[in-house]
Amino acid sequence: MTREITPVLAELPATEFRTRLRAFLVEHHPGRGPKEPGARLAWQKAWLATLFDAGFAGPGWPREFGGMDLPFGLQVIYHEEIAAARVPGPLGSGLNIVGPTLIRYGTPEQKQRWLRPMLRGEQIWAQGFSEPGAGSDLPSLRTSARLDEAAGEYVVSGQKVWTTHATQADMIYVLVRTGTLESRQRGISYLLTDIHAPGITVRPLRDLTGGASFAEVFFDEVRVPVDQRIGEENGGWRLVRTSLGHERAALALNQAAFYRRVLDDLTRLARSLGLLADPLVQDRFTLLEIRVRLMRYNAIRTVDTIMTTGEPGAAASVSRLIITRFEQEIHEVALDLLGPAGLVERGDPEAVENGRWLYGFLRTRASTIGAGTAEIQRNTLAEQVLGLPHDVGMPAR
Ligand SMILES: Cc1cc2nc3c(=O)[nH]c(=O)nc-3n(C[C@H](O)[C@H](O)[C@H](O)COP(=O)(O)OP(=O)(O)OC[C@H]3O[C@@H](n4cnc5c(N)ncnc54)[C@H](O)[C@@H]3O)c2cc1C
Repeated sequence: MTREITPVLAELPATEFRTRLRAFLVEHHPGRGPKEPGARLAWQKAWLATLFDAGFAGPGWPREFGGMDLPFGLQVIYHEEIAAARVPGPLGSGLNIVGPTLIRYGTPEQKQRWLRPMLRGEQIWAQGFSEPGAGSDLPSLRTSARLDEAAGEYVVSGQKVWTTHATQADMIYVLVRTGTLESRQRGISYLLTDIHAPGITVRPLRDLTGGASFAEVFFDEVRVPVDQRIGEENGGWRLVRTSLGHERAALALNQAAFYRRVLDDLTRLARSLGLLADPLVQDRFTLLEIRVRLMRYNAIRTVDTIMTTGEPGAAASVSRLIITRFEQEIHEVALDLLGPAGLVERGDPEAVENGRWLYGFLRTRASTIGAGTAEIQRNTLAEQVLGLPHDVGMPAR
């Protein structure tokens, strides 16, 4: 296997590209992952390295950083095939959030230093934006960064919360206040730091499913070299828009393909239980079918917008809203259909399909909060698509 095959791949006709990718995924499929968390992480990392080394990582990333630089149509096929193959997805939030931000705003040295290890899964990244008093209203964040000019370092103190992947991460991208509190979005800078740097404490938070996928992250006089800031000092807000847009657009295509499969699984289950003859059940499945198709079309629209304008724009909020409501509703339908049997948890021999529908129901309660709540997505659409008046509670555009 050599990376030289990448340029050829990007120029292949669609059918041939699909065949080639599918054959690769069959031949190199990593199989079922181990359950033990440490072994599972190593298994996921090994898969990402395999993809990268074969030139099958980063469909939209430039080739100079190890990406495939695929044209639009091949990106759609790429995401569909990856989702259908049931292989591990990206680790952390680097690839889809800080990666595109670095590609757009990073210095050549920053790009050289971080992009390849990010794409190859060698470095896992977490997002340190939200704080206990700053979620939807991100410009009110208080984590401060004081410049120590003599040392060429910022000294960072404060707290982040809901930091997904923080316990696995190697690096964290953080929004910090370098201006006065009153400066709001005009006094924010965007720093990248080693999450194991002295002064950083990560404390896991337990969620509804019983797992701990996110954490609180405390900063106590943490020293971050000035050359680890992306963009200008106090100029971080412009970058945040790119990051959040990509976060909302992230995996839209992959998720559309994933939920196509989940709906097929639920249809099979309903059929095996003899429930599909009921016209009311048929009605619910028809609505889910329409939505899963809409998800795909919206995801395609989002990728198209990114490729033509460089930014995901408001289409990303449409995708995010549709996907998050869909993933909640499909699990609500599943639990309604299963009745009491659906409430038996994972690990119990009586659990239907090892409790996947109950687990999914609990996990997706948070979907309409993360990456901006459903209300905030609607605000974005109201203003940017419908042209309604600006919400005075939100930062100016
Ligand atoms: C699963 C999950 C993963 C997450 N991962 C990360 C992560 O990795 N990194 C990170 O930095 N953050 C992360 N978050 C945090 C997430 O971005 C915030 O929870 C979210 O932005 C909402 O902020 P908040 O929790 O402070 O709620 P608040 O902003 O306090 O909102 C409370 C309620 O008020 C509503 N509301 C607020 N303002 C308005 C308005 N102007 N108009 C209408 N309604 C409004 C909200 O919709 C919500 O219902 C994650 C959250 C979840 C649930």
